[in-house]
Amino acid sequence: MTPPNALDFLDLDHLLSEEERLIRDTTRGFVADRILPEIAGWFERGELPRELAKELGDLGLLGMHLEGYGCAGTNAVSYGLACLELEAGDSGARSFVSVQGSLAMYPIWKYGSEAQKRRWLPPMAAGEVVGCFGLTEPDFGSNPAGMRTSARRHGGDWVLNGTKMWITNGGIADVAVVWARTDDGVRGFLVPAGTPGFSTRDIGRKLSLRASVTSELVLEDCRLPGDAVLPEVRGMRGPLSCLDEARFGIIWGSMGAARACFQSALAYATTRVQFDRPIGGFQLTQQKLADMLVELSKGTLLALHLGRMKDEGRLAPEQVSLGKLNNVREALAIARAARTILGANGVTLEYPVIRHANNLESVLTYEGTSEVHSLILGQAVTGLAAFT
Ligand SMILES: Cc1cc2nc3c(=O)[nH]c(=O)nc-3n(C[C@H](O)[C@H](O)[C@H](O)COP(=O)(O)OP(=O)(O)OC[C@H]3O[C@@H](n4cnc5c(N)ncnc54)[C@H](O)[C@@H]3O)c2cc1C
Repeated sequence: MTPPNALDFLDLDHLLSEEERLIRDTTRGFVADRILPEIAGWFERGELPRELAKELGDLGLLGMHLEGYGCAGTNAVSYGLACLELEAGDSGARSFVSVQGSLAMYPIWKYGSEAQKRRWLPPMAAGEVVGCFGLTEPDFGSNPAGMRTSARRHGGDWVLNGTKMWITNGGIADVAVVWARTDDGVRGFLVPAGTPGFSTRDIGRKLSLRASVTSELVLEDCRLPGDAVLPEVRGMRGPLSCLDEARFGIIWGSMGAARACFQSALAYATTRVQFDRPIGGFQLTQQKLADMLVELSKGTLLALHLGRMKDEGRLAPEQVSLGKLNNVREALAIARAARTILGANGVTLEYPVIRHANNLESVLTYEGTSEVHSLILGQAVTGLAAFT
């Protein structure tokens, strides 16, 4: 028997349907043609070209796991595979798709009125309209329930005041899903760009997720019509259910970044010669590669397992937390180990590793920090909440 393929050591390909393989291969081809040749420059300049949205829409990747309204209606595993391939390109590209599909389109699809769905979802699926998700505030990150942003009734209208911070796609979004406190609990509002009283300011000097726009949203007596509210949800269940969707994509995506780092380190180890032999021939390097291989294989298998559970409708939020905590943590460890194998080349943008390592620092923090997911798991097994 020949040794297993290093990049699919457990032959997970065998567990995928033909349609799932097709979606994976199409996304992988897009990343190879469109993202990899450009990404170092985008990262360096701190940009993600807006026209990418339309191209991702044409591929059917935006809101792909949603049914109807121009969405592709794939299963969760296909969505996960697309996230993995996109993040093998760059976490910024995967973040764009996660935010658009899981954080902006999903709440409209799940909690919106029929009119809201018809107005927003088809152009969002096509990438003609970009959305963002405003939950985090300057003083409320891990504890979003403390949010200060408020929405008050004025006659038939709503008036919003507050600031949202660290919002992916904020500055390029045509519509923001903003979560605000009302007399009736936390509710979601659709805020079109250009609404008087609504402005955005991009956050500069980021050294992570540079190929992704991150912004502040400012709402100053921002008046919205009565039908701007998402009618079907009240309370923190609304935003938390969206985060669960996006975290699912991260479980897969982080393994894409890890695979890219492993692939790069493996190629380097077999070609870089020191002390008259390839560095991959030294036991210390092989130990690193073996550890990377084990965690990459386990993490991808975990993603597939959780994906199958999601498709069967029996994936619990705590299980999503387990996946996010493990896979991002291990992806970061893989990226850091890969960086050491590349030596000095590991710190330049000529190779993908430092870019992925830097990106994963954001992925570790957003959609619930690793500490918050540890607390969720701690509560799940002890029955005792340790958040406060
Ligand atoms: C690049 C990027 C993009 C983002 N995109 C979005 C977006 O699109 N929309 C959005 O709404 N938000 C977004 N975020 C915000 C992100 O979700 C928050 O940064 C995250 O929830 C953490 O909040 P914080 O940064 O305020 O950290 P804090 O909550 O202040 O936490 C700081 C540290 O304290 C720890 N900590 C907090 N509470 C506890 C506790 N009870 N016990 C133990 N440790 C604790 C945390 O784990 C962390 O290590 C983004 C962030 C980044 C970096």
